[in-house]
Amino acid sequence: MANAKKIPSFHYENCVSCSICVQACPAGAIDLTKPGKSGRYRNLFPELVNERCTGCALCAKSCPMDCINMQAVYETE
Ligand code: SF4
Ligand code: SF4
Repeated sequence: MANAKKIPSFHYENCVSCSICVQACPAGAIDLTKPGKSGRYRNLFPELVNERCTGCALCAKSCPMDCINMQAVYETE
């Protein structure tokens, strides 16, 4: 059976690495890291620790740059 769950999707082009979303997450599900190994990104950006996320959307509401969208994902039970 498939269950819908929403998780945050980050838009790095608008992110200013303020870490407000990290502090807003009650589940400790966001880390600030350097994404990828290509050197494309110079700054630290939020990265979701998927298994900890409860889909509460507090991170999306907290972002001052409006760069977090909640997206539906489907899990099978
Ligand atoms: S949706 Fe909630 S639990 Fe998931 S990363 Fe955002 S604040 Fe944390
Ligand atoms: S709150 Fe928004 S701008 Fe700040 S680090 Fe998180 S995603 Fe980036």
